[in-house]
Amino acid sequence: MASRCCLIHYHEIGLKGKNRSTFERQLMTNLAHGLRGLPVASISRVSGHLLATFSSPEAPEQAMPLIARIPGVARVSLAFRTAQDPAEYLPAAVSALGEVEHFSTFKVQAKRANTSYHLHTIELNREVGAALCEAFPTKDVDVHNPEATVHVLFNEGDVYIYSQSERGVGGLPVGTAGKCVSLFSSGFDSPVATWMMGRRGATMVPVHFSGRPQTSDASEWLCQDLVEAMASEGAIGRLYVVPFGDCQREIALAVPQALRIIMYRRLMYAVAEQIAHIEGAKALVTGESLGQVASQTLENITATSEVVTTMPILRPLIGTDKQEIIARAKAIGTYEVSEQTAPDCCTLFMPRRPETHAKPKAVSEAWASFDHAAMVETLLGSLEYVDYDFCPSYKPAKRWAELHTALAHASF
Ligand code: ATP
Ligand code: MG
Repeated sequence: MASRCCLIHYHEIGLKGKNRSTFERQLMTNLAHGLRGLPVASISRVSGHLLATFSSPEAPEQAMPLIARIPGVARVSLAFRTAQDPAEYLPAAVSALGEVEHFSTFKVQAKRANTSYHLHTIELNREVGAALCEAFPTKDVDVHNPEATVHVLFNEGDVYIYSQSERGVGGLPVGTAGKCVSLFSSGFDSPVATWMMGRRGATMVPVHFSGRPQTSDASEWLCQDLVEAMASEGAIGRLYVVPFGDCQREIALAVPQALRIIMYRRLMYAVAEQIAHIEGAKALVTGESLGQVASQTLENITATSEVVTTMPILRPLIGTDKQEIIARAKAIGTYEVSEQTAPDCCTLFMPRRPETHAKPKAVSEAWASFDHAAMVETLLGSLEYVDYDFCPSYKPAKRWAELHTALAHASF
């Protein structure tokens, strides 16, 4: 009897040699977590693929779009699983092709993961093709450019037959590339940057600098909505919020107007670097893109980066255009949230003419003109956070309790 399942394909994991089983295990953990709302019966390995089975007949179809969003998944197919018996796999092939809505040409693509079955792939193509021609007499075979393809995969004693397949996001399973702290605003860019690093297997810890108490907490709510919009990827387990308004006010009074933004950014980076140490993260991530705004010229990127001395700052969007970023934001579901504007520290105490080509001497003089070290301490002491049950690889920092015993927990 044929049963339904999701057959999950991956590319890059296959390239990772000895690490392969670690990657497969992490992907299985992430799949189990991402599908926790559905009645999953099992998630297992079948050579070169992963397999998800369910205890209700509608669940495999509902699982498809969720699986496609999980990093490490190159493709997911809604398959019939049968025994290696033509009395089972031929009717399943007819059902699989019957599920394709509009087509006039088709082909069969048979594959054997091992050579134990007595028919060769050419013979299998012919056998299944003949059954399909009989069941669909008005349709034609086209082996070069078919409108529908029925895949028939012989693998470890079973046959998987499918015509419906969805492309996955690709990349690597979250939890296989270490942890990164991302500077996370409610704009378009930094959520996309965070998503991209999550897709490369990093466990992401976003940190948002809010204008509170000088502004409302509206941007914090948007950041929470953004984290929720990216729930399916399973890359985020905690969002930190730093009430930054009072420090900005102090900086605005202390430094030349044109250098304010650079000073705000330096302070943000310095705080984020400390959070990364507490979290055991190995890099910072920002959504900067070269030349996009005044603070993102090469001179200013240099001026802001130099406060971070113990880890790299990764900028996955540095060479992208705004149009590309917007297209990605739409695809991953963050666009609608980022489109809403909220006052945050980016809109607070902004200079009329920001410096676009900061001179190192002026930057270091401005940095020395206020007690930035004390500000870092104060801001770390006032950290807040929200935890999410989205990311199985996120483990809250162990050092956290010792370092911040009197931590103010999130008030929202
Ligand atoms: P975004 O769309 O990500 O807000 P942006 O184009 O508005 O980016 P900037 O405001 O110059 O550019 O910010 C550059 C980067 O600095 C952001 O991508 C983000 O990584 C970080 N950043 C800016 N504002 C904040 C904030 N309030 N909290 C945390 N990080 C921030
Ligand atoms: Mg911004």
